Amino acid sequence: MYLKKVEIQGFKSFADKTEIKFNNDITAIVGPNGSGKSNITDAIRWVLGEQSIKNLRGGKMEDVIFSGTDKRRPLGFAEVTIFFDNQDGDIPMDYNEVAITRRIFRSGESEYYINKNSCRLKDIRELFMDTGIGKDGYSIIGQGRIDEILSNKPEDRRNIFEEAAGIIKYKSKKEEAERK
Ligand code: ATP
Ligand code: MG
Repeated sequence: MYLKKVEIQGFKSFADKTEIKFNNDITAIVGPNGSGKSNITDAIRWVLGEQSIKNLRGGKMEDVIFSGTDKRRPLGFAEVTIFFDNQDGDIPMDYNEVAITRRIFRSGESEYYINKNSCRLKDIRELFMDTGIGKDGYSIIGQGRIDEILSNKPEDRRNIFEEAAGIIKYKSKKEEAERK
């Protein structure tokens, strides 16, 4: 499974609908300071359910919506869709392509979709658990995270290995069952 494409519309500096395609090889995104490179990784974490606006480098969730420029009015909503190639079936769904969408309006609440079907954030979390792709997965390693991983307590570091080994899903199901 690999990330094929990211579609961003109205998210942070991406006012116009923008498509960023990836392939199986290495892709690097380069550009001047402030051109929106980090906004792309923010978009990927956001669509996977990031709820902490601090992690998205903003003050309130509304700050992810394009806030306008001298020449352009602010937009009313932000939407991000990421497309995974799932021909190897790593994502437990019977589809060769899996698309995850999140949309937010200025009024607040986020909407989530899996292959255009409305769903809960919980469904997305469960789908990606143990794939390494979740918002806290090891597939996105931000500035600072490397230090954190190296200096973490052993138990925290263990979480990363457990996700890679594919057992987090069972642990979290067990914890959920114990809470009931
Ligand atoms: P650097 O090389 O410094 O890390 P970068 O390419 O990673 O830069 P980003 O941090 O992705 O740059 O983008 C910052 C830009 O995004 C700033 O110009 C900021 O004004 C713009 N920006 C952030 N949020 C919004 C928003 N809601 N509406 C419009 N523009 C936004
Ligand atoms: Mg940056």
